[in-house]
Amino acid sequence: PRHTPDAPSADPFALATALSGVHLIGGQFVPSRSGKTFPVVNPATGAEVATAALGDAADVDAAVQNAAVAQKLWAKVPARKRGALVYQCAALLKAHADELGRLIALETGKALRTESRVEANVVADIFEFFGGLGGELKGESVPFAPDVLSVTVREPLGVVGAIIPWNVPMLLMALKIAPALVAGNAVVVKSAEEAPLAVLRICELLNRILPHGVFNMLSGFGPDCGAPLVEHPLVRKVTFTGSVETGKIVARTAAEKLIPLTLELGGKSPMIVFADCNFDKTVAGAITSMRFTRQGQSCTAASRIYVERPIFDRFVAAMKQAVDAMVMGDPLDEKTDIGTIVSPGQMEKVRAYIAEGTATPGATALTCSAMPTDPALKKGLFIQPVIFTGLTAESRLVREEIFGPVTVVQPFDDAEIVLAEANDSEYGLAASLWTNNLKIGLDLAHRLEAGLVQINQNLVVQANLSYGGVKSSGLGKEASLEAMLEHFTHKKTIMVNMS
Ligand code: NAD
Repeated sequence: PRHTPDAPSADPFALATALSGVHLIGGQFVPSRSGKTFPVVNPATGAEVATAALGDAADVDAAVQNAAVAQKLWAKVPARKRGALVYQCAALLKAHADELGRLIALETGKALRTESRVEANVVADIFEFFGGLGGELKGESVPFAPDVLSVTVREPLGVVGAIIPWNVPMLLMALKIAPALVAGNAVVVKSAEEAPLAVLRICELLNRILPHGVFNMLSGFGPDCGAPLVEHPLVRKVTFTGSVETGKIVARTAAEKLIPLTLELGGKSPMIVFADCNFDKTVAGAITSMRFTRQGQSCTAASRIYVERPIFDRFVAAMKQAVDAMVMGDPLDEKTDIGTIVSPGQMEKVRAYIAEGTATPGATALTCSAMPTDPALKKGLFIQPVIFTGLTAESRLVREEIFGPVTVVQPFDDAEIVLAEANDSEYGLAASLWTNNLKIGLDLAHRLEAGLVQINQNLVVQANLSYGGVKSSGLGKEASLEAMLEHFTHKKTIMVNMS
């Protein structure tokens, strides 16, 4: 029923228009039950590029009912066959990677070359990995008594509700739906209100291969569409990525229903740089870890950088020089390194932190890069990245997740003190250590309170490596075989008495 092209499209504007105003429910692209829509805005220009269906509890109910019927049939498909279908999706996603990259750049403002196309390629990789795991859905035979056969089997949970944010929506959706589907569940996804288009295009592609109804996609806002999805009695598992604040709301509902929950939440990730590090590689690592190319809108961004005092001044100067050399501009332009902030609300929040840091006595704000000069971008949500020094551990900029192009660099003299400072946070998502002394590196890696610690490199999410935070950064893991088994199946015990 859609007017979207079958072949990959090079025109994200036309594709956005064609994707306007629909959910995917039971394999059909349908408007919301209320007929209402909301605008999708290009953050680089402020122009409306599409509309999205405004979902509410009636749409949620329709999607979940469809998913529940489809799931019963899907669970009967042999696991390796389910995996083979998911694997087949990977090739189609790969063929559309450039198109998906352009679409996500248009709706989120993430630069195409440095961020958006990269995300699209990772999505295909995630489908490929999980598609190969169908044969791993196996149980064990457990010795019990000579005339009793005792075995365990892995069974799907039923309908999974998946809620995603806007910063890497395609990747985060893939980490949820690929393992859930291979495990025999059906999924209803609620996309982020800022980024409903690229994930909908992915649904169109998957809908050509997978049985209709096994996955469904709703667009809409959190309280009106996300909350009813979590509350729906037929939803037997929720997997959520977003802020700590919303994660707690979702967790309360899941607790009331007594259903399993996976949460991937915020972060304030420390990066600890020792004087014996490889200086140039570490500066480059700081720039990439901070995700300036995505305007710092990354849950694992190195937003607290601790540098050993002998190299502190040189390190800060080199960071500034490197960010100054980056080009801020039209996200769709291949020359652009740094795109925009996603929304006016997010822009205000980030500006407030910058103003607070700048006004703090003793603090220095190093404003980097240059604003774009193209008049077509004058309403764009661009913010010059800021590197702060001279802030203390009590500052809100050191303690809170800013989710913008703002990092705080602090000197340190002692490994034990910097470890205590790094761990003095409600978050525990990621951390990195940069040193050529692996004895110190490994010792601190074991004692850092984080779900992911990297030495001398920065994050690349890998489909086959467990990913997820501790403390307020989340519950449970994504990616890896273990995540598929533990979070999308339950283990049933069957005993046969043959006496
Ligand atoms: P958010 O919590 O505001 O929104 C996330 C999603 O939840 C959106 O789809 C939103 O519509 C929905 N939602 C809002 N209220 C809801 C409710 N009451 N019930 C159900 N759903 C509701 O987060 P955001 O601002 O979109 O995303 C940024 C946050 O996501 C940051 O904190 C970031 O660190 C985190 N994040 C974490 C990871 C990770 O892997 N740990 C990855 C990316 C982003």
